[in-house]
Amino acid sequence: MVGEKMLSAYFIKPKIDLKDISPVYKKEFCLQKPLEKAVLYITARGTYKAYINGKRVGNFVLAPGLTSYEKRLQVQEYDVTALLKTENEIVVEYGVGWYLSRMANEDFLYPKAAGITREGAIIAEIELYFTDGTTQSVITDDSWLVASGKTLFSDIYDGTVYDASKELKFNINAVLAENQDKSMLIAQQGEIVCEQERLKPIAVITTKNGETVLDFGQNLTGYLEISLTAKKGEKVSFSFGEILDKDGNFYNENYRSAKCLYEYTCADGFQTYKPDLTFYGFRYVRVNEYPAKIVPEDFTAIVVHSNMERTGYIESSNPLLNQLFQNIIWGQKGNFLDIPTDCPQRDERKGWTGDAQVFVKAASLNFNINRFFRKWLYDMAAEQSETGAVSKIVPMYDLIETPTGVSSAWGDAVTICPWQMYMTYGDKELLEYMFEPMCKWVDYITGTTEKEGLWVGGWHYGDWLELKAPKGEYKGETRESIIATAYYAKSCEIVVKAGKVLGKDVAKYEALHEKIVASFKKEFSDTFKTQAEYAVTLAFGLAADSEKVARDFVEMIHADGDMLQTGFVGTPALLYALSENGYLDLAYKLLLREEYPSWLYPVTKGATTIWEHWDGITPSGELGPADMNSYNHYAYGAVADWIYTVAAGINTVEEAPAFERILFTPHATGKLDYLKARINTKYGEVESGFENINGRAVYKIKTPVSATAVIEGKNYDLTPGEY
Ligand code: BGC
Repeated sequence: MVGEKMLSAYFIKPKIDLKDISPVYKKEFCLQKPLEKAVLYITARGTYKAYINGKRVGNFVLAPGLTSYEKRLQVQEYDVTALLKTENEIVVEYGVGWYLSRMANEDFLYPKAAGITREGAIIAEIELYFTDGTTQSVITDDSWLVASGKTLFSDIYDGTVYDASKELKFNINAVLAENQDKSMLIAQQGEIVCEQERLKPIAVITTKNGETVLDFGQNLTGYLEISLTAKKGEKVSFSFGEILDKDGNFYNENYRSAKCLYEYTCADGFQTYKPDLTFYGFRYVRVNEYPAKIVPEDFTAIVVHSNMERTGYIESSNPLLNQLFQNIIWGQKGNFLDIPTDCPQRDERKGWTGDAQVFVKAASLNFNINRFFRKWLYDMAAEQSETGAVSKIVPMYDLIETPTGVSSAWGDAVTICPWQMYMTYGDKELLEYMFEPMCKWVDYITGTTEKEGLWVGGWHYGDWLELKAPKGEYKGETRESIIATAYYAKSCEIVVKAGKVLGKDVAKYEALHEKIVASFKKEFSDTFKTQAEYAVTLAFGLAADSEKVARDFVEMIHADGDMLQTGFVGTPALLYALSENGYLDLAYKLLLREEYPSWLYPVTKGATTIWEHWDGITPSGELGPADMNSYNHYAYGAVADWIYTVAAGINTVEEAPAFERILFTPHATGKLDYLKARINTKYGEVESGFENINGRAVYKIKTPVSATAVIEGKNYDLTPGEY
């Protein structure tokens, strides 16, 4: 059942095992009567590209996307009326996609860990509606033919090997796949993944060690398209990298085991090719083998990500800050490829829930990600354990009950993300769907903690990657129980707020929330040990004496040389903790700091995306340890939400979310000549910011709805207009 539609087609596969080679399926059919309409329903256990009479159907890259496949497999529906003639041929090119990728074959991931053997297959059905009112279906069954394809190998991590010189022979029969269970088929729910921008190299470099490297000027996610004239059998080979090393040489050790192959055997004559059964995270391309002259025009980096409408813009008088914002935007593009991933290049590319949770607010203002998140959250709900545990990775991580499968601030994505979808877009339906999983998560914590009212025990990432972590380790001094309990409080608070929106009885959670807050204050009113402990405590409103805690916090920051020391969890809270407690100036100082460690430091080092580590490249030009050093990891880009909501001061309110009502709280600083932000909401364009003119801050606001502005302590009621 897909939406309203019951598919009568079968999952099919080639009769013989083609091993690594991607099969291509074919079926011919005739129309006997005049056609009114034709609809193709199709999906794969793997990925597919469908062609009718030689024309590509749709433009969904890596369709049907990545979901919790055993529970939810999206089926796409295409109107193919215009593609049909009397004599027709449908061809479907299969790729293993995520489904059978090395990524899905890790010991701890769902299929293997659960003892499930996956087999690649496609299922398709063309529904023909004739003008005389009759219908006919063309379905995948054992009448289809299969050819051993030109894609000799493809994998999400390991790239593609393709032989354009190979001839397709449809001489293999299709057979029905072992597994004909269709109960997991659902209609397309997420945004589709598409080709977006096309970039040309900004330079062709000959590096010190004599290699030829194309520089696309932007760290991006997608694939490389080539156009060349060659002879049959000639070889093309490339390698991909995000940065050049200290000596300006090609570098990609940080991809770890991801091979990211691009091996292509030419056909005769002029040809173009792009490996669209996988994707790469790269800025630089090393030319290993190429039979033609290198002409920059012949190379195109095609950016690939989920369709998301751009909604948010930030601009200021500081070019480094502007570049930081561009890097955040590119970090989002690069990592919103069907699911929110941690990074797009190394052998990871997974739906890490903690990363998504810290970034979701900024992301939801930058682009409309409502549909994108809805699909991912449905997977999260589908994979939640009986006990309510939510995994650190969604989808495909079903072993959440393993000792390191669940962590605070990661699992809390189950409450934070749906709530953000409600706040930014007013998505009440999703909130309703997620309400039970949200409650179950809070109950899970209550059921597993070793100390009532706190979250003590279990396994946590803490303030992952904080700066004071001992060398070679990723966790520092920050007490896990502080972060865990703070998030326990936050999740419980969200359950209460969501429940009230939905008209549910949340008395139990209200009492629990009070208890957690009181326990936190009692347990942790002593001196905090790290910036992250302070930041989270203050930003989550959990300090027993916020004035004193804020003062101590500021003292610690001064003692640290006015530098941030926080990691994944502390950083998103850092500036809020300061600005909400009277230390706006210090917040701006940290935001605008250019030396290491800071948000702008990577920009001074030429970053075009957000780095995983503050010191991905050290001030002396050394690269961080290759085992954990991504240059496209959006987590620290969460700072954009502080710029939108505190610096530019654009906020929606809980009583009228989605910017139906707006609270403007812009905060000028002498450190910037101007700053402004714009967000396109469903009610219209919202703008806010400030400009320093002759030593006076001038605030400029544009609102499409009734709003309140709080500016330098004064309240203003605004009707739609510009101020
Ligand atoms: C990932 C993350 C993730 C983390 C969990 C890393 O390997 O890249 O960003 O959240 O593991 O701690």
